[in-house]
Amino acid sequence: MPSVRIYNTEAIVLRASPLGEADRLLTLLTPGLGKLQATARGVRKPTSKLGGHLDLLTRSSLTVAKGQSLDTITGAEAQETFPLVKGNLERLSRAIYLSELMDSFCPLEAPSPAVYTLFLDGLRALGVETDSDLLLRYMELQLLSLSGFLPELQRCAECHNSVAPSLHLWSPAAGGVVCPSCSAAHSDAANLSLNALKVMRFISTATVSSATMVRVNAPLHRELAAIMDAYLRFTLEREMRSAAFLRTVSRARAYVGLPTSGNESEVPAGH
Ligand SMILES: [Zn+2]
Repeated sequence: MPSVRIYNTEAIVLRASPLGEADRLLTLLTPGLGKLQATARGVRKPTSKLGGHLDLLTRSSLTVAKGQSLDTITGAEAQETFPLVKGNLERLSRAIYLSELMDSFCPLEAPSPAVYTLFLDGLRALGVETDSDLLLRYMELQLLSLSGFLPELQRCAECHNSVAPSLHLWSPAAGGVVCPSCSAAHSDAANLSLNALKVMRFISTATVSSATMVRVNAPLHRELAAIMDAYLRFTLEREMRSAAFLRTVSRARAYVGLPTSGNESEVPAGH
């Protein structure tokens, strides 16, 4: 009988889909092994000892048996369940968006402890931050940076000359900010405000706590969301499904008269 190889790892559940009668196929993000797929047998039965330990967006300690095609989770103990995130529809929709972002940018079995830490810190911050839109922009830029896709934010992405304040456009195809003369070669070039560029420059290198202290008003939030959405769409060559869900939640809030973003104060000068 062949020996079964067992390993232990911490993991956050990025995606879960039903498999067969009572199993689930899980996509997991781990600190040391990268993104993995594994089955959780019988987890959908009420009597399963794995139940409650392998929910979406739960951080667990796992014991896994190596399989020929798919690994099987044989033990799981939840370490962190993020109740402040899961108990609030808007925070949950943002967390699902972040998990899809991680899933999209992380190839299978390519370890990146920094990406894992970013995701974990992001989930923890999402539970307490009042400006979760800015947190999303921070997470997007940090993940792009760690994945080698950070847009050019300092000089023209095309001619590499410095860009004069307010004389810059945004072109995902060019790779970020472009000067007016280079923008002519890119049909996707769109206006980019100086405040939006300042916020992106600052949060792309800031810690999460300092990034989320920046004050952003509602129009600037919308501009930043549109700019990053265009860039991510170009980079991933598709729109992420949960981005559409986020917009639906935002429209629903507007429909019932609730504010759709954090606060209304201005960006401070100097960022
Ligand atoms: Zn240029």
